[in-house]
Amino acid sequence: MVLNNQVVGVLCCLKVAFSLSMTARLVLALGAEAKLDIVPGALEFALPFSTLEDACKVDKKLRALERKNFGKGSLIRVAVVGCGYSGVELAATVSERLQDRGIVQAINVETTICPTAPTGNREAALKVLSSRKVQLLLGYFVRCIQRVSDVEASAEASADATGIREGKDIAECNSEKYVLELQPAERGLESQILEADLVLWTVGSKALLPELEPCDKPHELPLNARGQAETDETLQVKGHPRIFALGDSSALRDPTGRLLPATAQVAFQQADFAGWNLWAAINQRPLLPFRFQNLGEMMTLGRNDAAISPSFIEGLTLEGAIGHAARKIAYLIRLPTDEHRFKVGLSWFAKSAIDSVATVQSTITKVLSGS
Ligand SMILES: Cc1cc2nc3c(=O)[nH]c(=O)nc-3n(C[C@H](O)[C@H](O)[C@H](O)COP(=O)(O)OP(=O)(O)OC[C@H]3O[C@@H](n4cnc5c(N)ncnc54)[C@H](O)[C@@H]3O)c2cc1C
Repeated sequence: MVLNNQVVGVLCCLKVAFSLSMTARLVLALGAEAKLDIVPGALEFALPFSTLEDACKVDKKLRALERKNFGKGSLIRVAVVGCGYSGVELAATVSERLQDRGIVQAINVETTICPTAPTGNREAALKVLSSRKVQLLLGYFVRCIQRVSDVEASAEASADATGIREGKDIAECNSEKYVLELQPAERGLESQILEADLVLWTVGSKALLPELEPCDKPHELPLNARGQAETDETLQVKGHPRIFALGDSSALRDPTGRLLPATAQVAFQQADFAGWNLWAAINQRPLLPFRFQNLGEMMTLGRNDAAISPSFIEGLTLEGAIGHAARKIAYLIRLPTDEHRFKVGLSWFAKSAIDSVATVQSTITKVLSGS
């Protein structure tokens, strides 16, 4: 980005930042990555769900399991670790896809799903999960994940049972099974062992701020436990007036002292302030304090199901197909340009047309085969 002929770099390496001229500014907007090294076995045996690549791997693995189980009558068992927004959305979507061909079990250390969500969204999500027979294991901490060989898997698993393999290899191997040891986080619950064909990990994230080399330690940024840079309300990193951080890279508290959530809504709103404040800093003008406007929350709960609780109408939650349509409209409105809106709208339209044709075809096939 170039502002008033002064280059404002969005750079990947902090070391470069400190060799920049005095007029240069650095913006940290590197996002976050899934954090799997929280419990033994998660890194090796669970698939994260954070990037497009992760989603493609999950799809590939599910397809492999669907092929393997086709016509056999055995159920595909999927364990989703974490019942925050991602975990709940994933459990709802996977259970909709598998229907009666699989069982989805979702585990959360808290005794509720999406603890910070508006009540309406949480209830809508619970309704959908229950209608799709998702088993919720609430109040449990996943202590470890291990790979097991069973009768079906032994032939393939024994060939590469030595050593730990990277998560990316898991998607290619469709006959491994895993066990999850669940430790109660609440009184009155008993330890449990779950078996799964696929373990999806949605717990924890870590900001992607690069590590400094030892010689750069004096320039160390103030980071919180999630690796986010602590900023003041103008989005300047504390103690580093030439560095700004926003989105998942930044840790900013609202006036009540609560950390702003790592969401696109926050990142999107901060971007305008960061742009303005860069200009202001370079031109020795006063910087604006960022104030988050909570517009509400949206959840995707399957192909044609969503929940929306707008913050400006107290107590209102749109669910099901209406929620789904409202969510799509909200996304279209928030896209940056008309060109984006047109392209995205067109792709949604094409996809729903293809889905409708497929539904009609399968209905006709069922009717004909039944007659
Ligand atoms: C599965 C999932 C679902 C989500 N759903 C929602 C939702 O429904 N609503 C919502 O508000 N939020 C949602 N979020 C959160 C939201 O995606 C993030 O909060 C938001 O994208 C953060 O924006 P950002 O600009 O900080 O980071 P990002 O959008 O992650 O952008 C950072 C960019 O920096 C790039 N980058 C990283 N490192 C480097 C480097 N060294 N050099 C150069 N480039 C680099 C990355 O490739 C990336 O393109 C979801 C997140 C996940 C994982």
